[in-house]
Amino acid sequence: MYLSKDTWFPLYIYGPNLILPTSSTVKMKITITETSNLSKIDFNNLGFGAGLSDHVFVCEFKNGNWGEGRIEPYSHLSQGLGLHALHYGQAVFEGQKAYRQKDDTIAIFRPERNWKRLNTSAKRMLIPEVPKDIFMDGLTELIRVDAKWVPRGENQSLYLRPFLFSSSEFVAARPSEEYTFAIVTSPVGELYSKPVKVKIEQSFTRAASGGVGYAKAAGNYGASFLATHNAVKEGFNQVLWTDHAEHNYLEEAGTMNVTFVINGKLITPILSDRILAGITRDSILILAKEWNIAVEERRIKVDELIAALKNGTLNEAFGMGTAAVVSQINGIGFNDEIFPVPVPKNGIALRMKEALSSIRYGESEDKFNWMHHVKS
Ligand SMILES: *Cc1c(COP(=O)(O)O)cnc(C)c1O
Repeated sequence: MYLSKDTWFPLYIYGPNLILPTSSTVKMKITITETSNLSKIDFNNLGFGAGLSDHVFVCEFKNGNWGEGRIEPYSHLSQGLGLHALHYGQAVFEGQKAYRQKDDTIAIFRPERNWKRLNTSAKRMLIPEVPKDIFMDGLTELIRVDAKWVPRGENQSLYLRPFLFSSSEFVAARPSEEYTFAIVTSPVGELYSKPVKVKIEQSFTRAASGGVGYAKAAGNYGASFLATHNAVKEGFNQVLWTDHAEHNYLEEAGTMNVTFVINGKLITPILSDRILAGITRDSILILAKEWNIAVEERRIKVDELIAALKNGTLNEAFGMGTAAVVSQINGIGFNDEIFPVPVPKNGIALRMKEALSSIRYGESEDKFNWMHHVKS
């Protein structure tokens, strides 16, 4: 039977050498690349952003409706410079990971959470929400097509980047009519394998009440790079953001939520419309309750942290996020002083990191049903 590489299909992926039954319930067109970049990736030296996988998923919103999805070689997108997102920034994204399991199958960590959060972000930016089946089927089919890109090394994974942007082409300050939902993926290793130094930010603001801090909006990052750049010049890895009004309360750290362990209590800033609701944070709070660790979600004053640093009651501090997973903090900068922070070997941070990792790689029981298995 002749198989075109470029075929509309409801049930099968057609490629040069492959016909895979798919689990997709949405109709999508799959075009397989003729020139794979897989051999260009050095899987022994994966940092973050080593290179993007061969294929992308794309689905467009036009005339008030989401169309059919398609998987195609990276770089097929052709869009003019009138692209709305570039001028007016209706753009939101997600970050999640697929993990190679002990039995060589592939599973994604809590993907429905990312789907929900993408739509929370979309609503704030007046972007149409992505239906669940388009998100989930796009994600799982793309991973199936690029399964060879899911690495097997220790602490490695396939980073998944679903994103959603305004794609009409005009320059007028009004919302776009057309939108594009796309997914690109990239094999990654660890983001911060060493503990990080953070600087308490006292002049720049990441998010203000009533703003878009709780949305994973592209512009939040654009607005934060200058502060991070300055902190890096001063020898830090990240900034520890404080509230917009007084710079008196701790909020979160760059790409991570943050936790302080004071006198054995796990204390993390309570969510607000200025803080991104991290899925790693949520998972760690669930594990902490399971382990009978005292948890407090509340506002934390900079003064309280500095006092705990000075009187030795700060046991440890760490960041939580998909990219870095758990990132121990070994120093906090405040008013031109750098306070060292303990990084215990058997503290909560490393125990959490280990527990999350063994669930994600299928090495321990998935008690909370967090793993979504991709059919091979
Ligand atoms: C994505 C992100 C996080 C972490 O969220 P996870 O779901 O744990 O990856 C934290 N803060 C900001 C600003 C983020 O963009």
